[in-house]
Amino acid sequence: MAPYQALKGMRDILPGEVSEWQEIEARARFYFEAAGFEEIRTPVLESTDLFSRSIGEGSDIVHKQMYTFEDRGGRSVTLRPEMTASVVRAAVENGLLRASKTVRLYYLGPMFRAERPQKGRQRQFFQLGAEILNAKKPEGDVEIISVVHGLLGFLGLKDFRIKHNYLGSSEERTSYTQALKEYFGKFSAEMCEDCRYRIEKNVLRVLDCKVPSCQSRIASAPSLHLSEDSMAEYRGIEEMLRARNIPGETDPRLVRGLDYYTGLVFEVTGGGALGSQDAVAAGGRYDGLIPSLGGGELGATGFAAGMERILLARGSFAPEDDRQVYVAVLDESPGTLGYFEIVAQSLYGIGRKARRDPAARGLADHLKTANKWGLRQVVIIGENEVKNRRLTVKDLRAKTQEEVGLDDLAAYLTRKREKSC
Ligand code: ATP
Ligand code: MG
Repeated sequence: MAPYQALKGMRDILPGEVSEWQEIEARARFYFEAAGFEEIRTPVLESTDLFSRSIGEGSDIVHKQMYTFEDRGGRSVTLRPEMTASVVRAAVENGLLRASKTVRLYYLGPMFRAERPQKGRQRQFFQLGAEILNAKKPEGDVEIISVVHGLLGFLGLKDFRIKHNYLGSSEERTSYTQALKEYFGKFSAEMCEDCRYRIEKNVLRVLDCKVPSCQSRIASAPSLHLSEDSMAEYRGIEEMLRARNIPGETDPRLVRGLDYYTGLVFEVTGGGALGSQDAVAAGGRYDGLIPSLGGGELGATGFAAGMERILLARGSFAPEDDRQVYVAVLDESPGTLGYFEIVAQSLYGIGRKARRDPAARGLADHLKTANKWGLRQVVIIGENEVKNRRLTVKDLRAKTQEEVGLDDLAAYLTRKREKSC
C-alpha cells in the first residue's frame, strides 16, 4: 500500500478519465454562455456564518456535513458545501445587483461535505450550477427549468425525469411546517435518529428521508395546502413549461432541505447506473436569501447538478473524438517543434485540439498512439514538411493520405469534417 492515500471520500481524477470531465465542462460553459449566463468563481473557503445563516442551522449540511475549522486568526471558516450562498454573497458584496437588472451567473467547481461515501456520493464532489438573481416570477422559474432540461440533454443525459413542487410563500411554508411538526411529533419515537433531529430543527427535511422504517409515516403525512394565488402561480408555470415542451411532474413530497427555498422547487433524477443516489440536479426559488445576506428585496432561483452523477448517468462519450487531431512530430529539432506550435495554434483557431505523444519514436509508433487514443486525423510533421511549409494529413479510418500547405490546413480539416458529418 502506498504510504499516503487521498482522504476518504476524496479521489484523484486521473489522465485516463480527465477528458470526460473536460468535455462536460466545455459543454456546460458553452451551453450556459449561449443561454446568457456569465461565469463566477468564488473562494472555496468562506466564513462559517455565511453557510449556517443561509443554508440554515437545521439542515443536514450545517448540522453534520460541513468541513469547519478555525483559521490561524481563530476565525471559524468552512469549505463551501454548495455555491448559492457564496454567489449571493459575492453579488451583494460587489454591487452586481440592481432592481432594474436580472443577473445570470454560472459556476463549476468542487464542494465539500463530510458524508458517508458511496457510489455517487463523495466528500469532495463537483457541481455545476447557475443562479438567476432578481428573477421575475414566473418567467425566472420557467427559465431555470428550461436551462436544466436543455443543459442535461446537451451533456448527453437521456432518461432523466424532472419533478417539481410548489412551496408557496414563506407564510404558507411556515404553517405547513407547523402542521408537519404536530404530525411527526406524535411519531417521533419510531422515526430514525436523523428524523428526530429534523422534527425539531427542519421538519420539511423529514419528507426527504430515505430510511425504510420512516416511509409509512411519511406517506401519510399531511400535504401542503396552497392558497389560491400560489396554486394559480404553480399552474401558470406548468402551463408555460408545457408550451415549451419541457416534461415534468408534480411530486407533492418534494421539498428542498435548505431553509431558503420558497415557491417552485425541483429535482432531476437520472436512473441508469446511478443506483440509489439518483438525484442528478436540484434547485428552486429562494426569494428570502438575497435580503437576508444584505441585498435588496430581490427574488432568485437556481440549481446545482452533481458532475460525478452526470458522468455516471450518461456513460462514456464515443471513444473517437473528432475534435482532437493527432500530430506526429517526427523529430525534436527546434525547427520542427516550432512548426508544431504553429500547427497547434492553427488547429486551435478552428476549435480543434492538437494531441501529441512525446514518447513516440518513428511514424509507425506515432500511428500506434493515434489508434490507441481513438484519433482519426493524423497530421505528420517531418523535416520535409517543415522545409516546404506543408503537412501530410492521414485519415486513419478512410485510409487516405494527402499533402496540404500550412495555410490551407484549417480549411482542409474543416471541409473534411463537414463531409464526414
Ligand atoms: P442528496 O439527496 O443526494 O444528498 P442533496 O439534496 O444533498 O442531494 P443538493 O445540495 O441539492 O443535494 O446538491 C445538488 C446536487 O449535487 C445533487 O443532486 C447531487 O447530484 C450532487 N451532490 C450533492 N451531494 C453530493 C455528494 N456528497 N457527492 C456527489 N454529488 C453530490
Ligand atoms: Mg445531501
